[in-house]
Amino acid sequence: MKHYDVIVVGGGPAGVCAAISSARMGKKTLIVEATNALGGAMNNMLVLPFMPYWTPVDEMHKNPIRLVRGIFEEITLRHRDMVRELEGEGAFYDRIPMDYFNEEYIKIILARMVSEAGAEVLYHAKLVSAEAEDKTVKSITVAVVGGTVTLTADCFIDCTGDAELAYLAGFETVLGRPVDHLCQPMTLCFRLANVDRGVFYQNMKETQQLYREAKARGEIDNPRENILAFSSVAPGVLHLNTTRIIKHNPTDPFDLSHAETEVREQVYQMFRFLRKYARGCENAILLSSAAHIGVRESRMIVGEYTLTKDDLLANRKFDDGIAACNYDIDIHNPEGSGTSHYFFPPYEYYTIPWRTLVPKGSQNLLVAGRCISSDHDAQASYRVIPFAAALGEAAGVGAAVALNNGTAVKDAPVEQILCQLRAQGAFIEKELPPREQQ
Ligand SMILES: Cc1cc2nc3c(=O)[nH]c(=O)nc-3n(C[C@H](O)[C@H](O)[C@H](O)COP(=O)(O)OP(=O)(O)OC[C@H]3O[C@@H](n4cnc5c(N)ncnc54)[C@H](O)[C@@H]3O)c2cc1C
Repeated sequence: MKHYDVIVVGGGPAGVCAAISSARMGKKTLIVEATNALGGAMNNMLVLPFMPYWTPVDEMHKNPIRLVRGIFEEITLRHRDMVRELEGEGAFYDRIPMDYFNEEYIKIILARMVSEAGAEVLYHAKLVSAEAEDKTVKSITVAVVGGTVTLTADCFIDCTGDAELAYLAGFETVLGRPVDHLCQPMTLCFRLANVDRGVFYQNMKETQQLYREAKARGEIDNPRENILAFSSVAPGVLHLNTTRIIKHNPTDPFDLSHAETEVREQVYQMFRFLRKYARGCENAILLSSAAHIGVRESRMIVGEYTLTKDDLLANRKFDDGIAACNYDIDIHNPEGSGTSHYFFPPYEYYTIPWRTLVPKGSQNLLVAGRCISSDHDAQASYRVIPFAAALGEAAGVGAAVALNNGTAVKDAPVEQILCQLRAQGAFIEKELPPREQQ
């Protein structure tokens, strides 16, 4: 049976950053990943671009202060270098004011960074069960080609997005809004090629109106209120984050399958509509769709601390804050149409406490990414890629610190974790200069 210091389950932004930081601290680290590449939702859910992670949010061209640095910043810089190396200066990415990325470059960069750090990856490996005793995970079993393998580690980090390991190991988890347990809707992202994007964007207002009319005529079943489109990094390719499946439980296998079936019809209807009515899409080709329907929210752990909407609205800074965040509270209506937003004012942000990464009473299991301990509203803010990465980096450091000190993760010395994160260049609250100096 193979043994590691640290096993990270899930190779999304959280898992990759967890594994890199753990391995860089000298821990023998393995990532167990169900697909054939690293990147998580960037890869298998075709998510794009990085949502804003700087303040002031409304002046992003004017020396914004990045709230996520550390390993995530290394990823963005390596991506920029790869773009320049392969496509030259003045490539698409240099011309637009957001953090766009090519997921194929990201896959290469993440694989390189993980292996340079000295961590291993087990691809095509799906966690299926866990053995735990007294809040200690003893081993995990993973479905692989030819059967299953059982693996042991001193410390585990659940970065599955679904808190799958915490759940299988018997830790308490919650799902969705307290009132009805509904999660944010699921979305299958898809892409169209051969689009005249300039014409498409110029006529967006008219297209939105035509979309509402088509819905009223019953030609489109999608409950989403409008069309949400982004440019892909490939010329003439439009990225659509616009389907919406409501009232399905992403952690129920039959519900999830039903969602995948239902969303196919939405893709068909949306493509048919866009080709027929949207200017710029007359010659569009349905190019691709994600390998997995996009899951914004699913199980979350019940941790040593549960982050709440009130914490966010108060811009609360915790003594054990290991990541800073100001992405808006962005809630796609779990019941149908509409998307609500609460935007943080410029220079305002909150921090996420270390304790939200620790399942209640956990001895050797940490959780990072979109399934840490919080309420439904708070999750709607930190759930995006940059902050998932920051949480992962903190979990990797925390695992190594706990092992170095011979303590349970719940008792890991937080000062050492913060000190190491600062040394790695990760953002720590006190680094933001006072407002008058900015
Ligand atoms: C439709 C949609 C659009 C979004 N748009 C944006 C956007 O534009 N910008 C942005 O920044 N964020 C966006 N997000 C949010 C963001 O993509 C995710 O919340 C973020 O990727 C979470 O990171 P994570 O590492 O926690 O989980 P994930 O990225 O989901 O990674 C989890 C990883 O764990 C693996 N895994 C899961 N279960 C197992 C298992 N049992 N065994 C082994 N491996 C397993 C998965 O294969 C995956 O690689 C969007 C999300 C959705 C659904």
